Amino acid sequence: MTDFRHLIREVPDWPEPGIVFKDITPLLASPEGMAWAVDRLYEPFAGKHVDRVAGIESRGFLFGVGVARALGAGFIPVRKPGKLPRATIRREYALEYGTDAVEMHADAVREGQRVLVIDDVLATGGTMGATCELFAEAGAEVIGAAVLIELEFLAGAEKVPHAVHSVLRY
Ligand code: AMP
Repeated sequence: MTDFRHLIREVPDWPEPGIVFKDITPLLASPEGMAWAVDRLYEPFAGKHVDRVAGIESRGFLFGVGVARALGAGFIPVRKPGKLPRATIRREYALEYGTDAVEMHADAVREGQRVLVIDDVLATGGTMGATCELFAEAGAEVIGAAVLIELEFLAGAEKVPHAVHSVLRY
């Protein structure tokens, strides 16, 4: 099967020294590449009854909407603090220095709704872990987490309380 790994560009020392940034813009620009990425992301969850797909700001939005469409589910944006206009719930998580947080509208999910969480990259796992916890706190049932790229050497999956489906592993 064709693998579109060659459309992920590696940018060393960006945004800071020591980070190898995975630039997905060549993949976004490729109709075949995007179709492949969305198909590989949603396929393990086809037929599993997904009510909502949650995409993590901002690159999780780029894949999450396509995955939601493929699964016949609605989409929920999970955002950085202060971006959503109505009452929100928030979960903080630790960074190397300091903390960050994810937010969603307090009424974004109903009790028992089945949610699949999507992002582009799983690095240390803090963002995905906090997002899964946020949905559990809201009473949803997280049925899985899926990412295009997993940086396995960072062991981020250990911070996620669910199995993580990854399309490409580095
Ligand atoms: P983390 O919470 O450490 O798992 O970081 C995940 C978030 O940071 C994701 O939303 C990614 O978009 C972004 N990210 C982290 N590391 C990278 C990387 N090497 N290349 C591109 N994006 C990254």
